[in-house]
Amino acid sequence: MAVEDADWQRLLETPELAPVAFPLAERRTMARDKMPAVQEKIVNDLAVDGYHGWSNLYDLVAGRISIPWVRDGKEEALSVGQASNVFADPDPALRSAMAKKWEEAWAKEAELCAAALNHLGGFRLNLYKHRGWKNIHKEPLDFNRMSAETLKVMWEAVEGKKDVFVEFLKRKKKLQGLKEMSWFDVGAPLGKVAKTYSFAEACSFVTEQFAGISPRMAEFCAGAFQKRWVEAEDRPGKRDGAFCTSFPLSNETRVFMTFAGSPGNVSTLAHEMGHAFHQHVMAGLPFMAQIYAMNVAETASTFAEMVVADAAVKKAATREEKIALLGGKVRGSISFFMDIHARFLFETAFYERRRRGPVGVDELNGMMLDAQKEAFRNGLDRWHPHFWCSKLHFYITRMPFYNFPYTFGYLFSAGIYALARETPDGFEERYINLLRDTGRMRVEDLASRHLGVDLTKPGFWEQAVEMAAADAREFLSLTD
Ligand SMILES: [Zn+2]
Repeated sequence: MAVEDADWQRLLETPELAPVAFPLAERRTMARDKMPAVQEKIVNDLAVDGYHGWSNLYDLVAGRISIPWVRDGKEEALSVGQASNVFADPDPALRSAMAKKWEEAWAKEAELCAAALNHLGGFRLNLYKHRGWKNIHKEPLDFNRMSAETLKVMWEAVEGKKDVFVEFLKRKKKLQGLKEMSWFDVGAPLGKVAKTYSFAEACSFVTEQFAGISPRMAEFCAGAFQKRWVEAEDRPGKRDGAFCTSFPLSNETRVFMTFAGSPGNVSTLAHEMGHAFHQHVMAGLPFMAQIYAMNVAETASTFAEMVVADAAVKKAATREEKIALLGGKVRGSISFFMDIHARFLFETAFYERRRRGPVGVDELNGMMLDAQKEAFRNGLDRWHPHFWCSKLHFYITRMPFYNFPYTFGYLFSAGIYALARETPDGFEERYINLLRDTGRMRVEDLASRHLGVDLTKPGFWEQAVEMAAADAREFLSLTD
């Protein structure tokens, strides 16, 4: 290293650098963990074609798939994006017909997908070998500023409470009158929610719920709505989805979404306002201290969504509405605790196996099946063996293990929410300070400083999983 440790330390303590000491020290550590700069530069250049190129190939393969489908008597050729929307259809026959076509479409491309996965996986393993990295989770854990211990304890807490979610799946199967419950039925809606909101109603509902938790959050939102920072008009020609974007120099944010009045839209509005508030409280920090990792990026948004979703369940006018809203909440938990867990188990198993050489299509299907069955505790009747083909996340090269940070973020927010309900005194200040530090601390330090909890111990995680389990239990008793 060009700079001696003692000099470096003194440099970080200077008033100019102290505010960005964490990201600077982190970069130094990461660079030290790698090969010498000259070698890393060669790797970077070769990676364009030898690594990221496989991810591009995957995008081409996924982009050219077309699935024949008859809608309203008309023959159509659906892209995978369009086809996947069919899985949200309330009609189980439609979902099952699409599941068959979906599996077939991916099976046809499975050899190309396997080549892409094996080569990008092989590249990663070789690079790790040369850097002297033994643990396959090292890179994603570093990216997410968290320890292996935290990851392990988090999954153990999830596994400890899976029974109630398996029960939920069984109940859902019964309520929907399904003979067999498939992977593709898990996300299907349960019942209808009659209540619709005008945009103005949604804005005041969201603001009101925030006010109960954090007056500053409510005040910020009311201001943003009044200044028309949310583009939510329901009109033709708008793309799907929602996002929040920030303008750090003016300390303003803008939200894009399409508001049609459903409770889902209200959640989305709350979610995006959570992001906006996160950005708002970070104002004034140096740019380098504002960059947060994937696992905490969704903290404020998921937290905001939880506050509003809980209030909606409490305010439900009928039993049916309450069941539908709770069902939606539990469905969300299942995707974080089971679907994402299956991806994590698969990816971990894949890398262990890949060390010994390329893995063929049949073996990949088998490994996927094992991971799904384990993650869902065998709670379904039909699975999705080609999921390793259809899920883009396995092919993202800039971020390996594009899965567990989702579960972390969800549970981290749930844990914060549990604390907010238990000890509301002084919560707002602790919460805002936590958000401000998301770009300049490891998650264990963040939690211990602002929440007084140890993420490497089961307590915090168990409490967070329990919040979701309580929803599932309430659903079970309401539908008994
Ligand atoms: Zn988000």
